[in-house]
Amino acid sequence: MRWENLADGPSRGVANAALFGADAVTTRTFNTPEFSGITFHEIRARTIVNRVPGASRMPFEWTVNPYRGCSHACVYCFARKTHSYLDLDTGLGFDSQIVVKVNAPDLLRRQLASPRWHGEHIAMGTNVDCYQRAEGRYALMPGIIAALRDHANPFSILTKGTLILRDLELLRQAAAVTDVGISVSVGFVDQELWRTVEPGTPAPERRLDVVRTLTEHGIGCGVLMAPVIPFLGDRPEQLRATVRAIAASGATSVTPLVLHLRPGAREWFMAWLEQHHPYLVRRYERLYAEGAYAPKWYQRRITRHVHELAQEFGIGPARGGAARRIRVPEQPETEPEPRPGGTQLTLL
Ligand code: SF4
Repeated sequence: MRWENLADGPSRGVANAALFGADAVTTRTFNTPEFSGITFHEIRARTIVNRVPGASRMPFEWTVNPYRGCSHACVYCFARKTHSYLDLDTGLGFDSQIVVKVNAPDLLRRQLASPRWHGEHIAMGTNVDCYQRAEGRYALMPGIIAALRDHANPFSILTKGTLILRDLELLRQAAAVTDVGISVSVGFVDQELWRTVEPGTPAPERRLDVVRTLTEHGIGCGVLMAPVIPFLGDRPEQLRATVRAIAASGATSVTPLVLHLRPGAREWFMAWLEQHHPYLVRRYERLYAEGAYAPKWYQRRITRHVHELAQEFGIGPARGGAARRIRVPEQPETEPEPRPGGTQLTLL
């Protein structure tokens, strides 16, 4: 099936094909409980290594994203807006219409072999989660990691997916020849908050099991403590419980990051807030009155508190075994505007 058949009309279909940079699109659904309600759009991408817009402000310049859309369905996900560039819905559509670049491993291997490529660091999981559920079916990451290993090309992965442990041996092989940074995202360990705000993700404890397992196998793993959600996940006892659990997992580092609410994510998150915590709507409007970010004073307070807890619980490379270099998105003063076909940074 051509992509044109998926859109509302021929003209939109042509536009979408241009945005994907794809040759063909096939839609599939799978009749299993795991993929119930999810539609996959399989495409053959023309490029797979993307340059980050405004890369000078980011800790990395190049990314590989084998998927668009994410069934982990985090309410706050900042990548939601990117679905609108494909004429797809940024709410439920983002959670259930998943674009799969089925030729990603082959394409990456070809691009790494190009004389124009100079072996720069490649970040993965910076837009959507490369170990979301679809990866269990499409298994693109083993080929991607193998290509990076064979070219001794440094890379990092940020994920909430426990599926990464399937590729443990490949990660070990890659770490033996190049810099490999793994980071797992756990913003909180509050069960009720997790169930409502990150409904498609593995439980925080299972993600911390990933950290533990990777560390035990000599691959140091940091935790991106993101997002810290104002008024719902920022109470001192919540921060303490989260940092304590992160420390117990053997994480090599913890990096706190406060919730962003950029266009696309903001509308979806606020609708969720109205439904689940209506009494907080006014407080959020005030806290995010200046735009996508909470005020600096609030960010500093959270960061300081988490760093104090990290010190108290002794989180650091000395405890983490063979720590490798870890690259995670850092909160910039301002982030570049997302653009069609470009890479938008998000929090996993
Ligand atoms: S925040 Fe990350 S894991 Fe959650 S939906 Fe977005 S891309 Fe997926």
